[in-house]
Amino acid sequence: MAYTIVTDICEGVAECVPACPVACIHPGGGANAKGTPWFWIDFDVCIDCGVCLEVCPVAGAILPEERPALQKSASR
Ligand code: SF4
Ligand code: SF4
Repeated sequence: MAYTIVTDICEGVAECVPACPVACIHPGGGANAKGTPWFWIDFDVCIDCGVCLEVCPVAGAILPEERPALQKSASR
């Protein structure tokens, strides 16, 4: 089970990116529904540590479970 960044709630602040111990948080392309940059978690690499959720300043942007329907990635 991986963590999920909810694409349309993320505001692209990127506090989570340097905090992730396995560097599995990547920038998405373009803008989300809020008109901001957004990031996504590689589910296959995430080790479920929870650090990203602790540092994210945007309520609801990260969920402690794998929810592929809520997270776009660079490849889809
Ligand atoms: S998930 Fe949170 S910390 Fe990471 S880029 Fe989005 S808003 Fe910023
Ligand atoms: S739960 Fe941990 S490993 Fe997974 S994306 Fe967040 S910081 Fe990275």
